[in-house]
Amino acid sequence: MLKNHKSEIINQKLVLMSCCAPCSAGAIEQLKGQGADFCILFYNPNIFPDTEYQKRLAEQIKLCELLGVKYHVGDYNHDEWLNCVRSMENEPERGLRCSECFKMRIKWGADWARANGYDAIATVFGVSKHKDQAQVDAAALAAICDLEYIPINNQPPLPATSHQKFYRQNYCGCEYSMKKNVG
Ligand code: SF4
Repeated sequence: MLKNHKSEIINQKLVLMSCCAPCSAGAIEQLKGQGADFCILFYNPNIFPDTEYQKRLAEQIKLCELLGVKYHVGDYNHDEWLNCVRSMENEPERGLRCSECFKMRIKWGADWARANGYDAIATVFGVSKHKDQAQVDAAALAAICDLEYIPINNQPPLPATSHQKFYRQNYCGCEYSMKKNVG
């Protein structure tokens, strides 16, 4: 939930970085309800393979169009992402690799936000029960510099869109998180 930030949200142009439709649905509905001026940014070069990326992207677009919110799709530069986490392949989920993954994506998002006239960033990267919100917050604060960071402190209540069937993946996104769920 976007706690204690209602007045700031209404006065700012906000970028909400999203990893997938199910994780973002609650925050999107909440921001809409608050009358926020915001855009969903889908920048997830961590997702592997390409077919999985396309599936999550299509679901995100479907959700944005259903709710009538603006969205932007970033580059799918998976090779650059691999370089960013090199030598951290065997890190556990919530370890160092994930911190670098969050930082890379949020830094890219902050650059895009600045270039497009936005003042603040929020992300749903930490809302899954498998994630560590404090780790996402720390990565965001290290990555965004002059923009305001608006943390999402807990999972918003089930949104009205919950009756819609959105694809829900069974691994975080990268090839290293996929391995533990295969076989
Ligand atoms: S497990 Fe998820 S957060 Fe961690 S590096 Fe892989 S895609 Fe990124």
